[in-house]
Amino acid sequence: MSSQARAQPVAAAGFDVLKVRADFPCLQQEIHGRPLVFLDTAASAQKPNVVIEAQADVLRHSYANIHRGVYSLSQRATELHEAARARVQRFLNAASHREIVFTRNATEALNLVAQSFVRPDLRPGDEVLITGMEHHANIVPWQLLADAGLKLVVAPISDAGELLLPEFERLLSERTRLVSVTWVANALGTINPVERIVELAHARGIPVLLDAAQAVQHIPVDVQAVDCDFLVFSGHKLYGPSGIGVLYGKAARLEAMPPYQGGGDMILSVSYAHTEFQDIPHKFEAGTPAIEAAVGLGAAIDYVTGLGLDAIAAHEADLLAYATRALQQIPGLQVVGTAREKCSVLSFVLDCAHPHDIGTLLDLDGIAIRTGQHCAQPAIERLGHHATARASIGLYNTEADIDALVASLRRVVAMFS
Ligand code: PLP
Repeated sequence: MSSQARAQPVAAAGFDVLKVRADFPCLQQEIHGRPLVFLDTAASAQKPNVVIEAQADVLRHSYANIHRGVYSLSQRATELHEAARARVQRFLNAASHREIVFTRNATEALNLVAQSFVRPDLRPGDEVLITGMEHHANIVPWQLLADAGLKLVVAPISDAGELLLPEFERLLSERTRLVSVTWVANALGTINPVERIVELAHARGIPVLLDAAQAVQHIPVDVQAVDCDFLVFSGHKLYGPSGIGVLYGKAARLEAMPPYQGGGDMILSVSYAHTEFQDIPHKFEAGTPAIEAAVGLGAAIDYVTGLGLDAIAAHEADLLAYATRALQQIPGLQVVGTAREKCSVLSFVLDCAHPHDIGTLLDLDGIAIRTGQHCAQPAIERLGHHATARASIGLYNTEADIDALVASLRRVVAMFS
């Protein structure tokens, strides 16, 4: 291989973004007469044809309720559902498929841990330690334990949006029942040093939950290498369907936890006096699950792993750097969240226009961004803002998308100045 070829970035060498875009039918449309520029993947990703087809195929040919049918169609649907679980297991490098619990989304997975891991032997004054950059889904479930005396402790962040690690370490105490931190912050894009966080907490015997809702689609995740006790994510941000999420938990942790919800499918036997529960993970999956969504999630995992998480990460890193440089040239624009380790997310404000006005005007140019607090109100307020505009990058975005964003933002500035 020539040195010139070796010097090529991974994205340029192995990632054909225009070919990738063709896989996403929703991107092939115009909004207000302009080609859609979709920069809201952090909220929810668009779906490739293979995901749409995988779900449609189940519904057309292989649909029946699972786990309880003696007939062939039900057994086929069960096999497809459980094959999706095995795909998630391999994707996260979990030790066993028993460690993969299907939920509705990351939010439900967090609530499951709050109610089934933290609540049962919670003593007043026990603490859950989070960071100052969390999504509401990693704040509110812990606040719901306040009635049992749980104290929510928040490790502070810098003006750049980085976790202050010495402060975090100081806040670990003998009352800390759980550390629950985001891997990637949805409003700021900060990548947290999760390996170090786990190391610091485990040194004190404290378990760790990683909120990987913004991580699994951008960063290769290996739960055994990072050694977290729990990890959560949502299918819809990983180019999969909505209505399906994942709780990974170390088997010993899950085995020791009571069920989250009761009903069919999670039991071995039921009498009016006593119910015996299934083994993990089924103990946590009461009722009919999102069968076709699980299959769709399996297809999404095959899709991103087929492209290669490293290649996706390299492509997105190039694009984030390109976008950051370009946005910083716009007069009166301030990037919110300037951590050294960032991915995918570019939050910003303009001194001449409110984020909602920016979002509305960009939509007229066919550009979809998110505006507001991004379900991370405390983080946005900590950095001195009431709201921001947020462009977020997915594997299908291009430099042309960023150029369209910049041109449109310049028109907004011209209009308001
Ligand atoms: N955690 C993070 C970091 C997120 O970005 C989100 C969604 O934006 C969630 C949790 C909640 O995800 P869901 O709404 O799919 O449950």
